[in-house]
Amino acid sequence: MARIVVCGAGASGLTTALLLAGDGHEVAVIERDPMEAPAPSHAWDAWERRGVNQFRLPHLLLPRWRHEMDAALPQVSAGLRAAGAYCASFLGPFREMVPDPERFDIVTARRPVLDAVLAACVGDCANVTIRRGVALAGLQVGTSAAPGIPNVVGVVTEAGEAIPADLVVIATGRRSPFGRWLADIGARPPHEEIEDSGFVYYGRHFRSGDGSPLDKIIGMKDYGSVSLLALPADNGAVGVGIIGTSADKALLPLRQEPVWERVLAALPDGDYYLEAEPISPLVFMGGLEDRYRRFVVDDQPVVTGAVAVGDAWAATNPSLGRGISFATMHCLLLRDAIRDHLEDPYQLALAFDGATETTLTPWYRATLWHDRHKLADVQAEVTDGTTDMSSRQDDQGWTTFKQLSQLAFSDLDLATRMVAGGTWFAETPEQLLADPDLTAKAAGHEPGGGHEGPSRSELLDLING
Ligand SMILES: Cc1cc2nc3c(=O)[nH]c(=O)nc-3n(C[C@H](O)[C@H](O)[C@H](O)COP(=O)(O)OP(=O)(O)OC[C@H]3O[C@@H](n4cnc5c(N)ncnc54)[C@H](O)[C@@H]3O)c2cc1C
Repeated sequence: MARIVVCGAGASGLTTALLLAGDGHEVAVIERDPMEAPAPSHAWDAWERRGVNQFRLPHLLLPRWRHEMDAALPQVSAGLRAAGAYCASFLGPFREMVPDPERFDIVTARRPVLDAVLAACVGDCANVTIRRGVALAGLQVGTSAAPGIPNVVGVVTEAGEAIPADLVVIATGRRSPFGRWLADIGARPPHEEIEDSGFVYYGRHFRSGDGSPLDKIIGMKDYGSVSLLALPADNGAVGVGIIGTSADKALLPLRQEPVWERVLAALPDGDYYLEAEPISPLVFMGGLEDRYRRFVVDDQPVVTGAVAVGDAWAATNPSLGRGISFATMHCLLLRDAIRDHLEDPYQLALAFDGATETTLTPWYRATLWHDRHKLADVQAEVTDGTTDMSSRQDDQGWTTFKQLSQLAFSDLDLATRMVAGGTWFAETPEQLLADPDLTAKAAGHEPGGGHEGPSRSELLDLING
């Protein structure tokens, strides 16, 4: 069995630790944020996590996450249920009409509660240690497993302590320093794609007085240049976000609570949340990048002995709620690659890259496809129809996809396929659009235009008081 160092105790780091501990490895998780994880019931009030910027923004866990967890780490699912997690179906009224309806159920909990449940499960593993308050500064190299490719044999902390490892797992999130650390050891640069996602989040949590769910809305609704995201969470809490684009500077006053509340009150059902008790200040998050890194370049790993998982591999604009589900699938792919290739770091790097490329990269690209078109639609609202078409190479496909999404509300087969596509990662939009039966359905559908919320000029009036 191996000594494995996991850098970062976010969702990916803790999931990796649990999976690898389950296979009998000795796992040391190193986390920069100093505070010990509180019990899930205290996590919201007590836990400060500077290392995870989105710690107090709404999170949901997709059906695929629930399925993978139930199968691989049922103690996490059980811990979340015990912590009061909320469960709902994306199928709405269709839920009662499908076999195995739980296939389509989502789980939600405030992010501190999720991380505290994961940390509690890790705490139950005899072969995992977590050291918090230790910042890592780089990698240690030893004898190369292949000519010209640095082989990592441990990590070095900011205080200069060397921690040896048979394998280093980088789970340091979307702003991961792994690329810099690779340059420091003379590795070739990974392939990297970065662009501004273009979306901004203005979010806040509320709670019902009696702990009953605040679930009038589950998910996201679009109102022209803004969207409303409402995610009922554990113990009567709900995360509510107003989402806009970073190019839309007129929205900036939404950072002020009275402005945010005024706009929320004007969105359909928005006032429902304002009657509840606010349990957080308003949190703003922008500057989110879509970022993808590949650590095999020209068919050769850039490094052996160190691999990146979760957001340290790829991160997207989060409005489809896929990040932790992707990360969990990625951790499972890593576990399998380690099972097959632990003794051969070169083959391990290639096998993990191959599995990532086959299973997850198409979904990274599909998520970008969705976001780029959505961004262009929102920009069209902001600029009154004069949208920049350069980001939309595939307008007919996007139009058809939106028609199918609308039709899915009244078509059981389509609903299950679209929900399975987007939340189980069963079929990418490209695969759905290649089905002539689906495109024929869409062709006969007149897309509904407009929306119930305030018009753009009414929105600007609300913002400007
Ligand atoms: C606004 C927003 C909303 C989101 N909503 C959802 C959602 O609804 N559903 C969903 O599935 N996903 C969502 N996501 C994405 C999700 O938050 C990420 O996919 C998830 O956090 C990835 O986990 P991670 O462990 O890879 O990284 P992180 O959670 O970022 O954890 C990285 C950890 O590494 C530590 N670290 C960093 N550098 C060092 C260092 N040098 N030394 C030691 N430790 C270090 C950090 O302190 C941190 O604890 C959202 C993201 C954002 C931005």
